[in-house]
Amino acid sequence: MNQNKLIYLDNNATTPTDPRVVEAMLPFYTQHFGNAASRNHPFGWVAENAVDKARQQIASLIKADPREIIFTSGATEADNLGLKGVFEMYARKGNHIITLKTEHKAVLDSCKKLEKQGAQITYLDVKADGLVDLQELEKAITDKTILVSIMWANNETGVIQPMKEIGDLCASKGVLFMSDATQAVGKIPVDPKAVGVHLMAFTGHKMYGPKGVGALFVNRKNPRVKVTSQQDGGGHERGMRSGTLNVPGIVGFGKAAELAENEMQAEAERLSKLRDKLEAALVSNLEECYINGNVENRMPHVTNISFKHVEGEGLMMTFNQNIGVSSGSACTSASLEPSYVLIALGLGDDLAHSSIRFSLGRFNTEEEIDRTIKQVSEGVNHMRNLSPIWEMYKEGIDLDAVEWAEH
Ligand SMILES: *Cc1c(COP(=O)(O)O)cnc(C)c1O
Repeated sequence: MNQNKLIYLDNNATTPTDPRVVEAMLPFYTQHFGNAASRNHPFGWVAENAVDKARQQIASLIKADPREIIFTSGATEADNLGLKGVFEMYARKGNHIITLKTEHKAVLDSCKKLEKQGAQITYLDVKADGLVDLQELEKAITDKTILVSIMWANNETGVIQPMKEIGDLCASKGVLFMSDATQAVGKIPVDPKAVGVHLMAFTGHKMYGPKGVGALFVNRKNPRVKVTSQQDGGGHERGMRSGTLNVPGIVGFGKAAELAENEMQAEAERLSKLRDKLEAALVSNLEECYINGNVENRMPHVTNISFKHVEGEGLMMTFNQNIGVSSGSACTSASLEPSYVLIALGLGDDLAHSSIRFSLGRFNTEEEIDRTIKQVSEGVNHMRNLSPIWEMYKEGIDLDAVEWAEH
């Protein structure tokens, strides 16, 4: 037990690469360096076979056909390819896309770009627990709607959307359903066909694989979905995504998928126990803590907590020499902006700024969680002891009624 070891609780930002994954990748940088598109000699065949195997491992994890896996540089590219590729391919059918305000920027910014090209985008509000309102979704679908894009699990809160219900609704209206499943794949069972998802983005580095490799699942049958390529030259990946394949990365992504398939269930149980311990201890040690997002439909390793009257970035500074987490504030060029995801759940700026996301992972231990409970509790108490607002709150002053001086 090393009391000084840094504790990493930011696994939704990226995960460490599993050493078993690195081991599988290494030969493909040196002995087996061939180009998977070199069809005429053994160097190419070895690489191509390795890519085929990885494609199968990944397809198996999500119960897809290997031919439905299009390799990309990550989930950002897969989101771009899915949204822009569908918009171009189905232009004759319509120009309307529906998504959520709480989506990842890879989806939201792709939609913004498409608006400049004539797309009409509906950004749906979510309910206070972060879940989509199915009636609102149904009302939003028109005869111009070509695509509904709703993430499987949210990166900030871990909230899991009702995928089957959304899929059934899309199927009944005849619109395609895409999902950014980056935070769900490899952590919980994800079976796009079973819920009616036609396109799905995910990435290696959020599931203990390497960075810079991801995939877009594209449904091949009933319906046969097509996307217009966004990057051309060579016709790789059945013309949907050209570019020499990142063979070592793909091999690592495949190995990560195999490990996830074998270990997911036990890991999810272990992590949810640790997450629940962390959450229960903080909520019982500290007053005025609020858990953000629906706690029944939530990823097993995530908790997002607001510590009222404590500024999250300041709180983090009390322990960030030892523990890596994320706060509900995003640094823009000039200022700290409250998380747009938490704002969409209806939190005020103050509660959004006071939030911390803890995302646990494969290599966290119970001892680390115990140390985190201690350090975060101490940090919150320290910040509140210094805070005139907390003092006023403890004296029973109604803070909402106070008129603050302009500054
Ligand atoms: C991390 C993440 C992405 C981006 O993935 P990259 O592979 O880093 O491009 C997209 N969507 C969600 C929900 C994510 O968490």
